[in-house]
Amino acid sequence: MAGTAATPIHPTDRETILAVDGHVHSTWSDGASTTDEALAAADAAGLRGVCLVDHVRATTTWLPAMVREVETLRERAPIDVRIGVETKVLDTRGALDVPDRLDGVEVVLVADHRFPGSHGPIDPAVVRTMLRAGSVRPQDVVRDLIGALAASLDRLPLPIVLAHPFSLLPKMGLAETDVPQEALLALAVRCRETGTAVEINEKWRCPGVATLDLLRSEGVGLVAGSDAHHAREVGRWDAVRRALETLDGSAGAIEGGVAPEAVGAAAGRST
Ligand SMILES: [Zn+2]
Ligand SMILES: [Zn+2]
Repeated sequence: MAGTAATPIHPTDRETILAVDGHVHSTWSDGASTTDEALAAADAAGLRGVCLVDHVRATTTWLPAMVREVETLRERAPIDVRIGVETKVLDTRGALDVPDRLDGVEVVLVADHRFPGSHGPIDPAVVRTMLRAGSVRPQDVVRDLIGALAASLDRLPLPIVLAHPFSLLPKMGLAETDVPQEALLALAVRCRETGTAVEINEKWRCPGVATLDLLRSEGVGLVAGSDAHHAREVGRWDAVRRALETLDGSAGAIEGGVAPEAVGAAAGRST
């Protein structure tokens, strides 16, 4: 059943969400397993679908070869296979670090790997230092981050998924509790209007349940992503499953913000 026709675009049922791993890396970028190995692992994990993504930049030249490889691979795949890329938002205008041509790419994962400054990406450690020194205010940092993500969502004529949103906050000494509700609401509305889904990320354990609760109540689709860099990590859910279970149990009744530890556990890891 190659292709994606049978899969609802943004399912809300927990097990349906968990049946697709939307974020799997391979040796085309910094993964340790080949696309073939990742796909076999997805099948072995009982998944119904997988999205093979790799990190691209504007200077990436291997993308056409990767697309050809995965297109061939999925002709005989027993599960749905989508072709994607992961990239970072570069600046406050939402520019994305992608090659000019994205032929064959079916989904773009937009990530907050660096702080999107007005003149380009900034190392989060630099922003952290500026926050400590009081030369920038947390609310302005959060506003610019959310504004950049929101601005990125219609930059490409392709479906977008916000990958591990707010993974950047702990790297800057901030937490999801620093995100004002109205800013999150504005992002949610923008996601809904642009058909953008938001990823619940296993590796980074974010976003937190309060954020997810608001996104879902605003009609934003949620997808599960392992961010696997090795085949053994494909479709292995722990944090994502717990987040969805909590979300389903809450039925829109969660109060307050996300515990810092929920998003801080991954602080300091590189992407
Ligand atoms: Zn990734
Ligand atoms: Zn990432």
